[in-house]
Amino acid sequence: MSQSILSAPAAADRIDRIRIRSVALPLAQAISDAKVLTGRQKPMTEIAILFVEIDTADGQHGLGFSYSKRAGGPGQFAHAKEIAATLLGEDPSDIARLWEKLAWAGASVGRSGMAVQAIGAFDVALWDLKAKRAGLSLAKLLGAQRDSVRCYNTSGGFLHTPLDQLMRNTDLSREKGIGGIKLKVGQPNCAIDIERVSTVRKHLGDDFPLMVDANQQWDRPTAQRMCRTFEQFNLVWIEEPLDCYDAEGHAALAAQFDTPIATGEMLTSVSEHWEFIRQRGADYLMPDGPRVGGITPFLKIATLAEHAGLMLAPHFAMELHVHLAATFGREPWVEHFEWLEPLFNERLETKEGRMLVPTRPGLGVTLSDRVEGWTVQSAEIG
Ligand SMILES: [Mg+2]
Repeated sequence: MSQSILSAPAAADRIDRIRIRSVALPLAQAISDAKVLTGRQKPMTEIAILFVEIDTADGQHGLGFSYSKRAGGPGQFAHAKEIAATLLGEDPSDIARLWEKLAWAGASVGRSGMAVQAIGAFDVALWDLKAKRAGLSLAKLLGAQRDSVRCYNTSGGFLHTPLDQLMRNTDLSREKGIGGIKLKVGQPNCAIDIERVSTVRKHLGDDFPLMVDANQQWDRPTAQRMCRTFEQFNLVWIEEPLDCYDAEGHAALAAQFDTPIATGEMLTSVSEHWEFIRQRGADYLMPDGPRVGGITPFLKIATLAEHAGLMLAPHFAMELHVHLAATFGREPWVEHFEWLEPLFNERLETKEGRMLVPTRPGLGVTLSDRVEGWTVQSAEIG
């Protein structure tokens, strides 16, 4: 073989500084889904964001984030602070190896839940850095299937929103070019759920994509009855009809009804998702990148789901998931939530029912000036 076609390997770069911070992002109004109406949770007033910034000897920079709702922000930050030094001196390109190194550093607290959610912020930062080094958007680095993804609105359809406001919210979403509407259901009084879905379906017309989300608040008999009642509304999916770990129950609903069943947002590992994929406990799987430990485990879940014939609709965090959904074989959906927008300088564009995948290198986001003021605690390592 001729020497001329072999180029010398690029010298490895090295991680030499890490900044982590916990940010309390206030929400414009208190948010209630079915978990609040059944008395299990309080209305949500803020979201805790864990930001990780990684700098290298070559002058590369990566930005990643994870998050938690209601509780968990201080815990994620504390775990991230404890394990961050594990990455110093490492080649940031070896993301799979570094994910495992971080997991082993905290192995005794497990490979799911809060421990991997802290790892998720590092993992996203490493992928952001790698894509920026290549001069590619994250979607292009991973291998994009499309340059826009169908998107639907969730933030307008919560249960604290009265029906007349709900209708105005659906109109505003459509005017913004958002391609579907999701309504929260799962209230103690099922008749109110049916009334709201029926009214919005009439308002939108028979064909406009409409989804519902019960946030795990039905038992099996109620889910059975409600899935049957909702068959008439031509829904894109019924989300979390049952407890988020009830794979067998979700599988029975998915097998029985024409309306697709969606679930997966509360799962926090590849193993937990594998159980749903193996049991066919979802038609639409809804992994959440930060919740499962970042992009590295998310891609494993997406590959397993794609191979099993499932569809994909990642949960929340559209700024990350628009890139990941763009790589999935079958046409996915992303969830449009404007809640994280104040954290970033850039805005995602929606047009004709779809969210455009940003073409800027990496995730294509930079932190806004407001983040400093919302920072609760921070640490620099290296
Ligand atoms: Mg949901």
